[in-house]
Amino acid sequence: MTSPWPPPEPGVLTIDTAGGMDGRTSGYDKRLSDMRGVYRDATAYAAAVAERGEDHLVYRVEDHRNVNGAGALIIGTSTLQPGRYGDEFAVTRGHLHAKSDRAELYHCLSGRGVMLLETLDGRSRAVPLTPGAAVHVPGHWVHRSVNIGSEPFVTLFCYPADAGQDYALIAEAGGMAQLIVDDGAGGWTTRSNPDHTGYRKGAA
Ligand code: ZN
Repeated sequence: MTSPWPPPEPGVLTIDTAGGMDGRTSGYDKRLSDMRGVYRDATAYAAAVAERGEDHLVYRVEDHRNVNGAGALIIGTSTLQPGRYGDEFAVTRGHLHAKSDRAELYHCLSGRGVMLLETLDGRSRAVPLTPGAAVHVPGHWVHRSVNIGSEPFVTLFCYPADAGQDYALIAEAGGMAQLIVDDGAGGWTTRSNPDHTGYRKGAA
C-alpha cells in the first residue's frame, strides 16, 4: 500500500522534554499488569504489583500519524518511568518490526537510559542515551528501551508507518539475550540472560 493522493496536511507538533506531545493523534499506556513475564525475576515483579498495584504506569507512548502507506512516518515520544525488578532496570516490552527491514531513530529528550539492540544471529549492543544523544537503529535489530536512572527516560522516535511490531518474538525466546542490571556501584552493566533460548528462525 502506498501513501494516498492527495496527501494530508502537514503535522505541526510541540514536543516537550517530559514526553508531552501537542498534536498527537494516538497513544497508549503500559501498566504493570501489561508487563507480566517481561522481567526475569518473577518474585520481584509480583512484589512490585503488590506494592504499587496492577495499574501502576510503566511507560507511555504518544504519537502522530496521518496516513499508513509505505513512505509515511510515525513520529512520537516514549516515556519510561524509573524502576527496578530485582537488579533489572525498567524496560519497554521491546520488539522487532513486523517488516523487519524497517529502521528507527531514537533521540533522548530527558533522563538516562540504554537502547538494548540485538540481532537474530547473536549480536548485541547496549547504547547509552542521555539528552541530545541519538541512535539510528537499522532494520533487523530487536530493540528495547531501558531506564537506568531515577527520572523518566524520554525519547523521540520516528519510524516508517508500515513497519508494524512483532512483540511475541522476545517472549518466545525466553526474553532478550542480554539483561541491563545494576552493577552494584551506582551504574549499570549487561548480563547474559540464562533463560534466552535463541530467536525464532525466519523472523528476519
Ligand atoms: Zn520499533
